[in-house]
Amino acid sequence: MPRHVLAIDQGTTSSRALLFDEAGKVVATAQKELPQHFPHDGWVEHDADGIWRDTVQVSREAIAAAKVAPGDIAAIGIANQRETTVLWERATGRPVHRAIVWQDRRTAERCRELQRSGAAALIAARTGLVIDPYFSATKLAWLLDNVPNARARAERGELCFGTVDSYLLFRLTGGAVHATDAANASRTMLFDIRAQHWDAELLRLFGVPASLLPDVRDNAGDFGAATSDLFGRAIPIAGMAGDQQAALIGQGCFSPGTIKSTYGTGCFALMNIGAEARASRHRLLTTVGYRLHGETAYALEGSIFVAGAAIQWLRDGLRVLDSAASSAAVAAESGPSGIYLVPAFTGLGAPHWVPEARGAIFGVTRDTTGGDLVRAALEAVCYQTRDLLDAFAADSGMKPAAMRVDGGMARNDWMLQFLADMLGVPVERPALNEATAFGAARLAAAGAELCASPGDFGASWQLDRRFEPAMSADRRDKLYAGWKHAVETVKDYTAG
Ligand code: ADP
Repeated sequence: MPRHVLAIDQGTTSSRALLFDEAGKVVATAQKELPQHFPHDGWVEHDADGIWRDTVQVSREAIAAAKVAPGDIAAIGIANQRETTVLWERATGRPVHRAIVWQDRRTAERCRELQRSGAAALIAARTGLVIDPYFSATKLAWLLDNVPNARARAERGELCFGTVDSYLLFRLTGGAVHATDAANASRTMLFDIRAQHWDAELLRLFGVPASLLPDVRDNAGDFGAATSDLFGRAIPIAGMAGDQQAALIGQGCFSPGTIKSTYGTGCFALMNIGAEARASRHRLLTTVGYRLHGETAYALEGSIFVAGAAIQWLRDGLRVLDSAASSAAVAAESGPSGIYLVPAFTGLGAPHWVPEARGAIFGVTRDTTGGDLVRAALEAVCYQTRDLLDAFAADSGMKPAAMRVDGGMARNDWMLQFLADMLGVPVERPALNEATAFGAARLAAAGAELCASPGDFGASWQLDRRFEPAMSADRRDKLYAGWKHAVETVKDYTAG
């Protein structure tokens, strides 16, 4: 009986495939960088067809590297960058435009109009989201309005909409399955998270024909099969979730009150809040954590758009950093400088939600070095996490016992120590830093009935390192007050 599970982790900056054995151990990985397109200020696009080709390539490479026969792979699980919007031809699978990436701000004006028209209450009540270009609905509306003939073709049923999960699924199944999962659907701003179906009123509001929409399924279960020409045998696709929800599952956050924070391009903290979709009073999002056997577990989420992206900018744009990995040593060497970097390159996310904001640096002197900026960028990630944790605590009345972290940036020991200091809560890094892919594998294993529930696949959570808060409360409060002042100043400047 086949026992391996192939996890596809299609992220913002790369497409990856990881092959897990039946004990939940990674036996092979393959990865390909994903080119980013920035056609205008604040616009971010990906080539969806390229994402598909890269996904097949890395999957084949991982299978080959593991020396596992296709017949030994029980199921495929997909984790994906969320909200990124693809519109494609039903007949050919060809995208009609480049994918509009979650970071893209082109619909900021449309969002302001929605805000002015008083749509916020309806949107929050149905979707748990705040009005922001981040989510798919205004991106899809933009495509329908701006791609020649798109609306007419959509109305004739010739086009499909989906986030990256849906698009990959459609291509993997040779066009046989146009579906998504409840967690990905909850990020479109078209999905009623309590009733668990597409919302007719929101479809009208955004001018979206229902024929475009994928079927919404549980996160673990039957999503069809990858066609046999791809990997030598038809392989069932049995699990799917957006990357942050996948990480929640990979980190084992199954009980209410548990929380994880993933540090990649952006930073996303999710807290499991159980079976009731409680609304946030502090501008966090309420979202689907996962849906299994028709039962939904909800999560509160805080989204920060720029985390590792600031490190990329310092490395590739300003060229003051050799590699992301060296940022820890550079920050340690730089020492405290009094500099605050507010990395609002694509607006401010939770809990501020100011799409028009842009970044700022405070406290620059003649002595300021590139290293100081690197340190300030890492500190900014921690200050922003503190903003989120305070909102979580205010919403839930719970201060978590610890924060579980993962993602590319969680390799940075210096940052995790500063994070523990700033939160006043221990920060825990798991032995397996691949929480997102592991979550996808867990869902696929459960969907293919290799185990009863996702948490049964693989070893239980194991600690790599725990970072204890060590900073005095005085110093923490002083540093954090400086950050708050910097963010408020950016907001005032944006308001003009
Ligand atoms: P994504 O899934 O969003 O593509 P990853 O989880 O692969 O992102 O993380 C990559 C990001 O983490 C990049 O933005 C990179 O700059 C940053 N990064 C990687 N290693 C480090 C490190 N040691 N210190 C700081 N940032 C890092």
